[in-house]
Amino acid sequence: MAVLPIVTVPAGVLRRKAKPVERVTKRVQKLIRDMAETMYDAKGVGLAAPQVGVSQQIIVADDGEGLIALINPRITRREGAEVDVEGCLSIPDIVAYVERATTIEIEGLDERGRPVRFQAEGYLARILQHEVDHLNGVLITDIAESVRQVEDEEAGEDRAAPAGAAEPEAGAAGSGLPAPGAAAGREE
Ligand SMILES: [Zn+2]
Repeated sequence: MAVLPIVTVPAGVLRRKAKPVERVTKRVQKLIRDMAETMYDAKGVGLAAPQVGVSQQIIVADDGEGLIALINPRITRREGAEVDVEGCLSIPDIVAYVERATTIEIEGLDERGRPVRFQAEGYLARILQHEVDHLNGVLITDIAESVRQVEDEEAGEDRAAPAGAAEPEAGAAGSGLPAPGAAAGREE
């Protein structure tokens, strides 16, 4: 595994619509492992492939309940709305207040290429919506109700809540997706 360099704005890859993955090859699986390691290394809670310079539809997330990797993810249902604060590993030193659906249904392929579909709520739903936006070239600064500058230690993470503000909601991570890379080294 390897920690990959994280691409930051205004890199063009962050603005492109990512391509669907046609076959889940060993190379795709390695990319997923590297993305997970990169996310944990950066103390983020989510990462999309364009953020490591790869314009493919792959995301990883971990709301504290274990690693989720999704290939060609598609949000098929959105319910509710809530504004909360988010940061982005690709946009250092800002946080943005973004309205997200509170419950989503999402489908895609897992890292073995098997179709999966699950419901996510709250914190995990927010992370997944943020990462799927990345695959469409959408950044939080595009859709935020407000944006503010922050100090270094507070920003720079793909995180869905400020420090200490949001415990993952019970049942939010009921995806059943396996965690091939495990969550070694993650700091809560
Ligand atoms: Zn982001």
